[in-house]
Amino acid sequence: MNWRTKLLNPAPRARRDFSSLTTPVYRGSTVLFDDQTAVRDDWQHAKNGYSYGLYGTPTALELAHRIADLEGAHETLIVPGGQAAIALIYLSYCTAGSHALVPYSAYGPNKAIAEGMMRGLNVEVEAYDPMIGASIGDLIRENTCLIWCESPGSVTMEIQDVPAIVKKAHAKGVAVALDNTYAAGVMFDAFAYDVDVSMQALTKYIGGHSDLLLGAVSARDDAALTKLGSIYQQLGLAVSPDDCSLALRGLQTLAVRLDALESATLEIANWLTRQPQVSDVFHPALPSCPGHKIWKRDFTGSTSIFSFAFKNNISEDQVITFVNTLKVFKIGMSWGGVNSLAIIYPDLQRPDKEFGGCIVRLNIGLEQPTDLIADLSQAIERSTQ
Ligand SMILES: *Cc1c(COP(=O)(O)O)cnc(C)c1O
Repeated sequence: MNWRTKLLNPAPRARRDFSSLTTPVYRGSTVLFDDQTAVRDDWQHAKNGYSYGLYGTPTALELAHRIADLEGAHETLIVPGGQAAIALIYLSYCTAGSHALVPYSAYGPNKAIAEGMMRGLNVEVEAYDPMIGASIGDLIRENTCLIWCESPGSVTMEIQDVPAIVKKAHAKGVAVALDNTYAAGVMFDAFAYDVDVSMQALTKYIGGHSDLLLGAVSARDDAALTKLGSIYQQLGLAVSPDDCSLALRGLQTLAVRLDALESATLEIANWLTRQPQVSDVFHPALPSCPGHKIWKRDFTGSTSIFSFAFKNNISEDQVITFVNTLKVFKIGMSWGGVNSLAIIYPDLQRPDKEFGGCIVRLNIGLEQPTDLIADLSQAIERSTQ
């Protein structure tokens, strides 16, 4: 053979029996088949073997299996981000002319899909009060195909009665999807409460270091998996094995990170409740959080994200000064990493409450809590005097 051809047809020389403790990064688009009759295009890699890198490499599948084990799911699909996970669920469950329900407190970009792409596809997505509980039954129509839950809700942190919602939904044959990102898929046992599909942004706690974007969509049973899988194949939601490898690394320290984040966050939330400039602290473990009793009943812990509101006598400009005066807390989106973050939600829309730029969301990181409290203290002093 010419050396040019030889370059592309190497005889493998390195031994293949390297048994690493960790999962290697497998790259590959093309997957080789033994013979022509074995060629197929099949997203069901876990069941039927590999056919094309688009539907997952061994690195992605290892991550998928570990997330499924952790959450008690039938099976998990890994997708490029939490938002892709949300889109996949909408597109798998909603068809033209159908109706879906999403809580007011849902993640903003989830509502953006509802009001944008889904409306364009002639799917009516109706917003509902996250505290509705069993009364969700009154909103279910003939053509309702999907009910979203997100607990706690984004920014305003309402804890939903997911078991009550699932019961009413299933009585009428409607599927329930849960955004379980806050709980890292572990603090709330979605499948113990019969949720049909649970998703989380792996970007947050599983990645854990603000350096990757991935999402997980976990199915309760084969029916849910098949519904999701065919749309997953059609959309081509490929993920990078490098990102999957980082997420696998993140899983190894998830437990210790969550323990440290929970206790530091509680310490800071409790400190904030004692500050005279603060009106409300929305942390699931505090009685002031809407649905706190449900959190106590259904969750095994709390994580690193919560919000607080300044009193009415503090102006929007003062709240902006407060965030700008923080030194250890950085200003930025996303959360679940090792750094503390603060951000204002100036345009938060809730039908029953007006926050007017005075609500700040904090993500607590792994810094020393006393330094974080000192930082918040100096910023409150300087901005509200
Ligand atoms: C961040 C987030 C998402 C989206 O995740 P990305 O990976 O950033 O796309 C979805 N749901 C919730 C509740 C989130 O906080």
